[in-house]
Amino acid sequence: MSEIYDVIVIGAGPAGYPAAIRAGQNKLKVACVDEWQNFDGTYAFGGTCLNAGCIPSKALLESSELFQRAKEEFSVHGIKIGDLKLDLAAMQKRRASIVKTMTGGITALFKANGVVGIQGHGRLLPGNRVLVTGKDGAEKTLAAKHVVLASGSVPIRLKNVPHDGKFIVDSWNALEFDAVPARLGVIGAGVIGLELGSVWRRLGSEVTVIEALDTFLPIADQTIAKEALRHFKKQGLDIKLGAKVSSAKVANAKVEGATAAGAHATAVDVVYTDAQGEHTLQVDKLVVAVGRKPFTAGLLAEGTGVSLDDRGFIKVDDHCRTGVANVWAVGDVVRGPMLAHKGKEEGVMVADLIAGHFAEVNYKVIPSVIYTQPEIAWVGQTEEGVKASGRAYKVGTFPFAASGRARAMEAAQGMAKIVSAQDDDEVLGIHVIGPMAGELIGEAVLAMEYSASTEDIQRTMHAHPTLSEAIHEAALAVDKKAIDSINR
Ligand code: FAD
Ligand code: AMP
Repeated sequence: MSEIYDVIVIGAGPAGYPAAIRAGQNKLKVACVDEWQNFDGTYAFGGTCLNAGCIPSKALLESSELFQRAKEEFSVHGIKIGDLKLDLAAMQKRRASIVKTMTGGITALFKANGVVGIQGHGRLLPGNRVLVTGKDGAEKTLAAKHVVLASGSVPIRLKNVPHDGKFIVDSWNALEFDAVPARLGVIGAGVIGLELGSVWRRLGSEVTVIEALDTFLPIADQTIAKEALRHFKKQGLDIKLGAKVSSAKVANAKVEGATAAGAHATAVDVVYTDAQGEHTLQVDKLVVAVGRKPFTAGLLAEGTGVSLDDRGFIKVDDHCRTGVANVWAVGDVVRGPMLAHKGKEEGVMVADLIAGHFAEVNYKVIPSVIYTQPEIAWVGQTEEGVKASGRAYKVGTFPFAASGRARAMEAAQGMAKIVSAQDDDEVLGIHVIGPMAGELIGEAVLAMEYSASTEDIQRTMHAHPTLSEAIHEAALAVDKKAIDSINR
């Protein structure tokens, strides 16, 4: 046994790397071990989020939206362009370069905060020791006063839908397609399925999204979900609800119009069942986006005492303690929504608790964002959730159609909606579908973090003309005092 650290973090995703950085800021001796390898074999810090999730998906969502707007919207602004062409290779190069810059940034942040970054596999041994297997296969055992497990999650696979990484793929592969598939199938109309479906639809794919549930986006407020479904259908996303995929296989399909021998292309046959019975859909690529599961393979040696729940999550309390002295777990590998910012707050909380500071995560105020067009974002409870709780409530909405800024942006779709308590006026949930919803929700999160009443938002001045006025007007509408739209 050689080196002894105050803290060893296993995993350098958005939960692990902030834990390591904050531990460094707290003057603790810290190492962060990560095994992420890209398709080209290179190691990189940043985990799923930076390498294969949040960042590359947002890069492509931005590029594809600009392409779509250039195609369909610029002329409305009086901007005429000639022959619009897609250079997917350049778009993908930009995506890769953003990822590289951001993951490289973590190395720099580690250095600046005194974190020892180690590329390799970490395995928790009993007695707060960590066996590290380096890139070259060399093993060494490190000891630490505290160990933070931040091993993240991996995509769920479906039985009878065998991935080949080329035609039947996961979300990571789907971010790195080098050609626009003519027909794209997506299993799962969750956040990831909708974002990926949107990217390729905008770039020209015929996209079919197959979703087992009858309800669209059950986690969102249903006023917002209904509005979203309408927009997505208008954009040409063929969303089949109540349709469960039972199997899929790569098959040779005849190329349309071709008669010559060999004029076959590889395609995917997807079998699904809905209320009408069993159907087979043929697509050129199939993305499986049916959710993610906690990843703990090779993480825990025999006898560590760390336990998993029945879904494979590491069991923790509200402060991310595993129950084993000085072993903590944060991020996607523990209960709660699989979101980068939730993991980040947990990582920072744990590093502060280890240093003896007060720290807490407010699990009631976690924002969710879906980066489609229109964007969808919310925080707090849905109207359906409040109704089910039995608490008397009031609702205010404001349509972006009445927002001067949204009109000027040619993005006057959607609405802001606030659900507040009838008795004490507390804001219970804020829901936005519309332009920059993910940015607008920041104000809502802050308001709820400070336990704002609706009146607090009503009495807060909002700059004009901004999109944020929609939140202000929705708050006014809760008490039928909206100025810029008719109160109902
Ligand atoms: P991860 O990011 O999965 O990182 C875990 C790291 O630990 C990995 O690098 C892994 O290689 C490493 N590791 C695991 N085991 C070991 C071991 N034994 N030894 C060494 N290293 C190990 N969330 C958002 O909030 N916003 C978004 O816009 C968003 N978009 C997404 C888009 C897509 C396509 C996907 C797939 C996910 C998206 N997410 C988004 C979810 C987000 O990526 C995750 O919530 C987040 O990455 C979880 O962070 P984490 O640190 O817990 O785990
Ligand atoms: P999320 O968990 O938000 O990423 O969403 C994944 C979605 O995939 C959920 O809405 C599931 O209902 C859906 N899903 C899971 N299995 C299947 C299946 N076999 N066929 C179609 N949809 C599925």
